[in-house]
Amino acid sequence: MHFLFLDWSKAFDSITHENIEIALQRYEVPEPFTKAITALYRAPTFRVKNGSDLSSLHPQQRGIRQGCPLSPYLFIIVLSCLMHDVEEEYTSKFELLPNPFSASSPLWDLEYADDTVLFSPNPVTLQRLLHILQHHAARIGLLLNLDKCEHLQLNTEQDIYFRDTEQGQCQCSTCFPGSPVPHGPPVPVSAIVKYLGVYLSQKARAQTDITKRLAITYASLKVLRPFFESRDIPADWKFTIYGQVLRAIVLYAVQSETLTAAQNVKLDTLHYRVLRNITHTKTTFYHKVVNPNDTPSSNLDISKKALDLGYKGHTLSTEALNRKLSLLGHIIRHPDSLEHKVTFTNSHMYRRHRTNFRVGPPKLHWAETAMTDAYGRIQYLEQQDRTAMLMRLPNAPIPIPVAPPEPHLINHEYYLNATRNTVWQLHDWELQRFYTTVRLWRGVEPSAQNRKQWQRVSGR
Ligand SMILES: [Zn+2]
Repeated sequence: MHFLFLDWSKAFDSITHENIEIALQRYEVPEPFTKAITALYRAPTFRVKNGSDLSSLHPQQRGIRQGCPLSPYLFIIVLSCLMHDVEEEYTSKFELLPNPFSASSPLWDLEYADDTVLFSPNPVTLQRLLHILQHHAARIGLLLNLDKCEHLQLNTEQDIYFRDTEQGQCQCSTCFPGSPVPHGPPVPVSAIVKYLGVYLSQKARAQTDITKRLAITYASLKVLRPFFESRDIPADWKFTIYGQVLRAIVLYAVQSETLTAAQNVKLDTLHYRVLRNITHTKTTFYHKVVNPNDTPSSNLDISKKALDLGYKGHTLSTEALNRKLSLLGHIIRHPDSLEHKVTFTNSHMYRRHRTNFRVGPPKLHWAETAMTDAYGRIQYLEQQDRTAMLMRLPNAPIPIPVAPPEPHLINHEYYLNATRNTVWQLHDWELQRFYTTVRLWRGVEPSAQNRKQWQRVSGR
């Protein structure tokens, strides 16, 4: 699989005002709005300020206003038209568009403001798309920063080349087999790419991202340590800062990762390190070696101490799981979304790449572990609800749904993340049996459709 991360040179400054107007019209934005927006950009002028000196007025030919809340949308609309044109030219010239997961849903690009990624399992297809994109983008004033673009290769070593020029339709030998026209320089290959704040690596594992994220968080913890250990600052402030600074860094985008048991342990080690600082608890080394007679301080003790100080949060591994289940519910509730199409087939099977080259047991993916976690929690809650119903006295009101275990009960089965074994117990070794996935789906889907019930399941 090939991923191209494109870097547009001065993206927001390059787009012409004429193209904004054309894109708005193509999107059939009602005329009054189109007129209002284009009026914003009619004969704009600017001055340059240097200290106290102001320059004279200059006309602004192109570019989107900085800081204007409308700007990202205008840029996305222009870029979407551009991608549409690329797709149209591609399909008129070549065969099918790349479809990484299903032939009925081609998918080859993602855009977030000016952050653009192109991807395809086939390097020839991707190079053709890149060349067509370079041509169409140049027409509206967008040029690539060739040395800042990045190529991420997953299980491949083939290069992808830029065009040799931005002008006219591409005549290279990839776009026209047999043509003598050469292509341009190769897209620089990177082993690790940072996209929207997430580190992606050639192995497509969570490890790279988690490792970097933990390193940044530990560095921040070092800075914040005097604050956490201070005896003059109320504990609830510290818990707030922990949540808003450290947890925000380490848990960013974690809902889409498939964490291993070892990675979960690493997350929780950080969690207890912070709670130890806040609750003024000495390290395990101190209690085991230096002063064995002191009151013990297992992780459970620390959780209880933190609870006494008013902390109601979960461990980092549980919070990661909660966020994952929250996302799973969202995916199940939106069968037409791209996320759903990438995760499940129409018959609720998991989308996974079958390969004959992989040695060893099948690799666990996000969907299987998320479904196992959800299924386990739902089973537990339903069991508790049934017990409460059975214990009910005659004529007593129907008991309210049972709440999940308290967050500080860190060793409760409810909060254990699915392991390879639990996933296999539920699915069987092959992970791809139709009847097991359908059984799981039937257990999970009704809860996901009920938002109140799903809040109970995901703890969010
Ligand atoms: Zn070409």
